[in-house]
Amino acid sequence: MQLNNPDLLKNSSFIHGQWVESPQSFEVINPANEQVVANIFEVTPSQLEMAVNAATSAQKEWQALTADERAQRLMQWYALIIDNQQDLAQIMTAEQGKPLSEASGEVVYGANYIKWYAEEARRTNGAVLPMNNKNQRALVIKRPVGVVSAITPWNFPGAMILRKASAALAAGCSFIVKPSELTPLSALALAELANQAGIPAGVFNVVVGSNAQPIGEVLTMHPKINKFSFTGSTPVGKKLLAQCASTVKKTSMELGGNAPFIIFDDADLEKAIDGVMRSKFRNAGQTCVCANRIFVQRNILSEFVAQLTNKLNTLKIGDGTTEGITLGPLINHCAIDKVNALVKDAIEKGAQVITHKSEMPVKGFFYRPTLLIDVTPEMKIFNREIFGPIASVIVFDTETEVIQLANQTQFGLCSYAFTENISRLWRLSEQLEFGMVGINEGVLSNPLAPFGGIKESGMGREGGSWGIDEYLETRYVCIGNV
Ligand code: ADP
Repeated sequence: MQLNNPDLLKNSSFIHGQWVESPQSFEVINPANEQVVANIFEVTPSQLEMAVNAATSAQKEWQALTADERAQRLMQWYALIIDNQQDLAQIMTAEQGKPLSEASGEVVYGANYIKWYAEEARRTNGAVLPMNNKNQRALVIKRPVGVVSAITPWNFPGAMILRKASAALAAGCSFIVKPSELTPLSALALAELANQAGIPAGVFNVVVGSNAQPIGEVLTMHPKINKFSFTGSTPVGKKLLAQCASTVKKTSMELGGNAPFIIFDDADLEKAIDGVMRSKFRNAGQTCVCANRIFVQRNILSEFVAQLTNKLNTLKIGDGTTEGITLGPLINHCAIDKVNALVKDAIEKGAQVITHKSEMPVKGFFYRPTLLIDVTPEMKIFNREIFGPIASVIVFDTETEVIQLANQTQFGLCSYAFTENISRLWRLSEQLEFGMVGINEGVLSNPLAPFGGIKESGMGREGGSWGIDEYLETRYVCIGNV
């Protein structure tokens, strides 16, 4: 990997402003060529304890700064991330596989959360309530929750950390994150830049290890940690949520999705196809908001399939560092097996298959982009998060029917619908049971808006004023005998 700033390539946990090594290490693999990118020191139990203690003492000083002072340091972090955008993108592509252009987009997207929350830090306003007793006054103030821990996934190795850390730090919290063992390098590079930006020692810590469970137990059960924020799969989230119950931690959970993507016959088909391509094939289909079930109204089905097949064949598959590549590999072999099992089940139950035509790379965890038609609710692929470049298409006749089918899932993260009918637009916004609804839009995440799910897709929101509230306590102050 050729970096302008080789200092960004780190190989150990970052605790209390120090890089801490240990006797054992684990490998990070490049999914595009199966080669070792780095060996990373495993965090030890005593280092984890050190991280919690460092975050506890640093938080006191961090919250004592003015919001302006915190904002200045956050803006420096933002500026350094932008200055190092290309190197951060190189690191991300090497460990995660996404095309360089997507990685570089993710760096800016994540950094924009820092900028947004640096500004929002100044607006964590309280309230003065008109009291109903003459000799009392009632106030509401906002206080940082304290020490925050987080566990993040491999699909967005930078942004999932920055979405949480930006709001937490702006609110006056300290932060300990365990990134995915598959993609720790982006997290460590962000820590190096946080350090250079003057974020005080102990305020932003990264702990890395390949054995998630014991680290997770500390981060969810340690009494000195006040809040836990997770992005990952629903089964793991449920387990971690239960662990948080032991100390009644405040929690935010951003879990799995099963997004419906509904295309009505009154939609602008070209825009809808473009939306499908962006929503479905970004990050090789490995996002929790990816179009998971594409519902197409019957009378436009054949036109839709013809146009999508053409688009599918424009995808350029390969190592994300190569110019022009638009689809990278899946994260590992296990991911390929999972997708294969879903496709096999769908075919056995009657789905029709159209696959991408071009040559596939020989090395790496690549999966051929595939279109499945005639998918039905009986198939596993209708009910599970696919996390791969498979567009699964279900035909429908009426609006009532498709809303019922779309809601027929325990997940409730993101949904999409394409229609030019404004009354329908309102009905869908209200009746689709999802935390987010994209109307005539395939990609909707934005620092100013509340990202998050309902049902088994989680709780809490990231982004906007809702996102910083997750890291603030509401305190009622009553002044008597006035
Ligand atoms: P994904 O399917 O996206 O890999 P996971 O939920 O398995 O989602 O992983 C998301 C994050 O959760 C990763 O950082 C992973 O290391 C961590 N993780 C997985 N299992 C556990 C566990 N039992 N305890 C704590 N963290 C875990």
